[in-house]
Amino acid sequence: MKKIIVGNWKLNLNHLEGIAHLQKINYSLSETILNDSNVIVAPSHTSLRSVQTVIDTDNLKIETAAQDVSQFEEGSYTGEISASQLSKLNIKWTIIGHSERRANFHETNEVVNTKLKNLLKNNIQPILCIGEDINQREQNIHVETCIKQVKEALKGIRKENIQKVVVAYEPVWAIGTGDVAKPEHATEIVTEIKRFLTSKSFDLDQFQFIYGGSVDSKNVKNFMLTESIDGFLVGGASLSSDEFIKIIKLTI
Ligand code: PEP
Repeated sequence: MKKIIVGNWKLNLNHLEGIAHLQKINYSLSETILNDSNVIVAPSHTSLRSVQTVIDTDNLKIETAAQDVSQFEEGSYTGEISASQLSKLNIKWTIIGHSERRANFHETNEVVNTKLKNLLKNNIQPILCIGEDINQREQNIHVETCIKQVKEALKGIRKENIQKVVVAYEPVWAIGTGDVAKPEHATEIVTEIKRFLTSKSFDLDQFQFIYGGSVDSKNVKNFMLTESIDGFLVGGASLSSDEFIKIIKLTI
């Protein structure tokens, strides 16, 4: 299966900066690397159309993800952006349940579940973020916390309706802190989630597992030794094209 490397630009870069950043990344990666992997950039909503237009016009192999989507399909929800609007822009991936949205915008597992259903309905592949905070890890309830997030995100979803879901294990204590998790942490969570999915009769090949949390070009190699990880969700380090390119090259 192709490795997945997602650059989450968060609330950074306007659309012109985004295009320049995309082009730099594209020019520095060989055709082979781009064919053999899913390199995905997640700009702000305001940049999605510009970035996607450059990708479509120039036939680039880099793909685009939205950083979020509305739980609503349409209607009186000022400021929201729907899955069908993203689909019309040719967006193939969308991040949901990021810990920053859970913490700052009260995104519950129930809301994440609705978002996931809306994405699948519109043929957009969800990048479902899960992860425990430091208290949950210290209380040794990190595994059950992550399983609960996956279980509730998938509630009511039939395996026939899933093409692919990417589960991004992102321990909250590792995001933006420089405090990267150990590969064993990721392996433990991925193993337990796989066990859960199997018990619910999901096909494991409908899922891929990536790690996120302070990944950079120095620590990325440690994770590549673990077979449980299919790639990375990169925040801060994805804003430097040199750093992001190094991470991609070390991952492939
Ligand atoms: C993220 O925001 O998903 C993330 C992993 O951020 P960082 O790499 O900066 O920790």
